[in-house]
Amino acid sequence: MVPFSSSMAYSWHMNKRPIDPFATYIWSNAPTPRCKHFLWLPHRVRLPSAALLHRRNIVDHDQCAFCSAREDQNHILLQCPKARKVWRLLNWLPCLSSFRDLWDLDGAPADAEIASTFVTAVLWNIWKCHNAWLFDCRHQTLEHTLHMATDDLKLWLHRASTGDQLHSCNIVSFCLFPLVCML
Ligand SMILES: [Zn+2]
Repeated sequence: MVPFSSSMAYSWHMNKRPIDPFATYIWSNAPTPRCKHFLWLPHRVRLPSAALLHRRNIVDHDQCAFCSAREDQNHILLQCPKARKVWRLLNWLPCLSSFRDLWDLDGAPADAEIASTFVTAVLWNIWKCHNAWLFDCRHQTLEHTLHMATDDLKLWLHRASTGDQLHSCNIVSFCLFPLVCML
């Protein structure tokens, strides 16, 4: 009989959990672990929006600091005027109920990993733009947000370039082209 161990119990427990198909989009792409973790938060409905913090009695209102609408995670990432300007410039006009729907838009790269890298860069910088306004009262221009997303993509391409070169070329053509054209 195999002796009991906590690692065995953990493995048994994890193996019984249903497979999360969206998890691959988050963890199997080129962004840094910090950005992957950021993406995991809205996936688990844990992004610290005003609505979430208000529900937990951490803040006394649930309004967006920029436009005063109710601020849940979809408002921050998709619906706030600041976010909508970014998506509009990228020619993606999402009227979506969830950020996960970004992976199914017509203009999204066909390759799931490439699409994830691109979408993560944009979402990550919309989030940073939101925080710059909220915590520093610093207005970040649309151009700056897109520059930051482009810089992140370049950095992540460097991380990916240690792998298959063709794969890296695909990321360049699909991810950088729309951003560079708009700047
Ligand atoms: Zn707003």
